[in-house]
Amino acid sequence: NREIHLASRPEGWPTADNFRLVTTEVPTPGPGQLVVRNQFMSVDPYMRGRMNDVKSYMPPFALDAPLDGGAIGEVVAGEAEGVKPGDVVLHSLGWREYALVDARGVRKVDPGLAPVSAYLSVLGMTGLTAYAGLLDVAAMKPGETVFVSGAAGAVGSMVGQIAKLRGAGRVIGSAGSPAKVERLLALGFDAAFDYHDGPVYKQLKAAAPDGVDVYFDNVGSDHLEAAIGSMNLHGRAAICGMIAQYNSAEPPAAPRNLALVIGKRLTLRGFLVGDHGHLRDQFVQEMAGWLRDGKLSYDETVVDGIEAAPEAFLGLMRGENLGKMLVRL
Ligand code: NDP
Repeated sequence: NREIHLASRPEGWPTADNFRLVTTEVPTPGPGQLVVRNQFMSVDPYMRGRMNDVKSYMPPFALDAPLDGGAIGEVVAGEAEGVKPGDVVLHSLGWREYALVDARGVRKVDPGLAPVSAYLSVLGMTGLTAYAGLLDVAAMKPGETVFVSGAAGAVGSMVGQIAKLRGAGRVIGSAGSPAKVERLLALGFDAAFDYHDGPVYKQLKAAAPDGVDVYFDNVGSDHLEAAIGSMNLHGRAAICGMIAQYNSAEPPAAPRNLALVIGKRLTLRGFLVGDHGHLRDQFVQEMAGWLRDGKLSYDETVVDGIEAAPEAFLGLMRGENLGKMLVRL
């Protein structure tokens, strides 16, 4: 069994030196435990926060111990109520080839319904984040104009498509390369721009001449400032992530126009996907239906091998992914 440990805490941008590949024995299950051969693991932006030794909504990763995170694989040993060897389960001990998990902490999935990787992307945590943030937190209504940043990523690409499928009037996305902009237009976004091509507020104004009703924030900073500037009266923002500041040692300079929230009566609402589990069944049903009908597309960027997991995580931070960044083990 090979696993990735956190060797040191990054300051600013992480590097390969912050991680260590360690070989250990394949674990043996005790009562109530299962051994899972991981097939895919997720790398996610929130993991950057857990590399810092600070109090947050999730505990920091320990030094010289394996990292963890979403993973899916096949049960190879152990047995518990409702789960047996051969079953495919979702759990939270990624960053390793073999995981020893508490049987109560796994969720059995149907590998016949979708490729197993989909349970870490479109039908998994990032898909639910998009669904809950857009429909529950921001309460998007048909006909509204939606702007989403980080639009070509796992969450953002779902936000834009769900918005269109649920009747949004106009959907605008921003992303970090011309190829990503092209992909967004192919996915059905009405407008898309590369945030490197000029100030975000200018590009957003041009793309949304009648203003924005709902902003789904994955980036923060100048994107949030631009959105506040473009938002219409009673606009709502679902504050999902602020990746522009995850690797910076300094607090962000923007948004400088927060006072506009008052006159425009805006709602800026932060949320965590973990609080929206009650939507999971409805979410899976609706998303699986759209997938079946060919109305929803999803991209995955897959990196091979546990030894490449740190590089996959760094690549995610640098924007090398289209859709969900995954590691195949
Ligand atoms: P993505 O698949 O969107 O990957 C991250 C993307 O961020 C990169 O591909 C890159 O794309 C973009 N990015 C990186 N740096 C910057 C920058 N400085 N400015 C603008 N864009 C940047 O990741 P996820 O879909 O998993 O996550 C998206 C956001 O949602 C994150 O902020 C994450 O923290 C948050 N999140 C929040 C959850 C919650 O419960 N609140 C749950 C899940 C995710 P590009 O090439 O376009 O720059």
